Amino acid sequence: VNTEADVIVLGAGGAGMAAAITAKENGASVLVLEKMPMVGGNTLISGAEMAAPGNWLQEKEGIEDSVDLFYEDIMKGGDNIADPEVVRVLAENALSAAEWLRDDVHVQFEDNMLFFGGHSVKRSLVPLNASGVEPIQKLKAKCDELGIEIQTDTPATKLIQDEAGKVIGVEAQHDGQTLTYTAHNGVIIATGGFGSNLEMRKQYNPMMDEKILSTNSVGSTGDGITMAEAIGAKLVDMEWIQTYPTCDAETGRLLYVGDVRLDGRAILVNLEGKRFVEELERRDVISKAVTETTDGFSYLFWDEASMVASGVREQHQNEYDDLIERGMLVKADTIEEAAAHFGIDAENLKATVAKYNEYCEKGKDEEFNKRGDLIAFGEGPYYIMKSIPAIHHTMGGIKINPEAQVVNVEGNVIENLYAAGEVTGGIHGTNRLGSDAIADIMVFGRIAGANAAANK
Ligand code: ADP
Repeated sequence: VNTEADVIVLGAGGAGMAAAITAKENGASVLVLEKMPMVGGNTLISGAEMAAPGNWLQEKEGIEDSVDLFYEDIMKGGDNIADPEVVRVLAENALSAAEWLRDDVHVQFEDNMLFFGGHSVKRSLVPLNASGVEPIQKLKAKCDELGIEIQTDTPATKLIQDEAGKVIGVEAQHDGQTLTYTAHNGVIIATGGFGSNLEMRKQYNPMMDEKILSTNSVGSTGDGITMAEAIGAKLVDMEWIQTYPTCDAETGRLLYVGDVRLDGRAILVNLEGKRFVEELERRDVISKAVTETTDGFSYLFWDEASMVASGVREQHQNEYDDLIERGMLVKADTIEEAAAHFGIDAENLKATVAKYNEYCEKGKDEEFNKRGDLIAFGEGPYYIMKSIPAIHHTMGGIKINPEAQVVNVEGNVIENLYAAGEVTGGIHGTNRLGSDAIADIMVFGRIAGANAAANK
């Protein structure tokens, strides 16, 4: 096996493949080590929507946006504890990263956007079928085209330094052996978050215990964080672990049919049939509100017109069928019937819908101040989906500087070591806004790749 390259990338998710492609395009030889039998990580199982201020669809729809507004949304959405310098880089480069995905990697985007919670305007691009399959397939195809070798089933276990502390390689398990890989220019850690590592979750945040389900890929065990910490890297914001508010109540999986909410066309109600939170609030705020309901679940309500307009059924037909079959989603001709399926108070729900429709007419949600366009509910059939918050994203991780270099506990750069993606911390503060992860992993994956390649 090949155990030597200019740049060695750990992890073949979105950040890792973006880094590998960019390093290669900048003249480096590149080797990618991936723990799992397949590429993709959490990126693959996500909806892969990508926030990009000033994008082509905003232009078409006449939505005004700016780098500054995006910057402010990221900072505010994470309670202003993120590293402003790094966030600035993310905000400034999100659009060019999206254009790179579109034009160089040939990722196809839908021609509608979604309005993710906590953003000030609609700015999130949606890849084909609102699925991470599209960007991952295209990134993988680009790696193949460029002749980038990806060794799967090869978990990295240890970073290797020379006497001066410079990173010169990595140890990894391959085919039952421990191999030493040599990196002439540098190592890029892109191993993702630690949402699937129960012990690590509890160590940093005791609330995130075994009772909470998870949306994460089994590969998200924080290996890169552990490896970097072992050589003195600084970790930041480790206690901030995000739950996604509307996941499968039985399995914890992400539910894409529920994206009708992000199309601005659904309301969240409780068992009493009442709204209890702004539907486009931050994920942490909605999750907390759900936890405080009588039964700990939320019920997403919408009508047939919203189903058709949002396109979520067509895009996620298998998920739709499965949810119906398991009784987690109900379709019924009347509000009463739909409510009865889950034991929701039907009279209250009817009143809630009537009141919401009044707000739509007035153009103002007087109860929760829901952002975006307000669209009234019409005729049935009606839909209600039951869901629960589940662990989704770990905001904390390795501290990087704006050049994607890893910073140690003394505040100095660890030479020849880069990190990008969910493995890093300090970018989303206490709470990541929806669709900011793909922007983050692409922006810093590309920066890490370019800088490692140039690091001769
Ligand atoms: P990001 O969104 O930051 O790219 P992902 O979760 O999409 O994160 O990708 C991280 C990838 O890193 C996954 O494919 C995961 O299996 C892989 N990975 C995790 N730990 C290791 C490791 N020790 N060695 C190599 N790859 C790893």
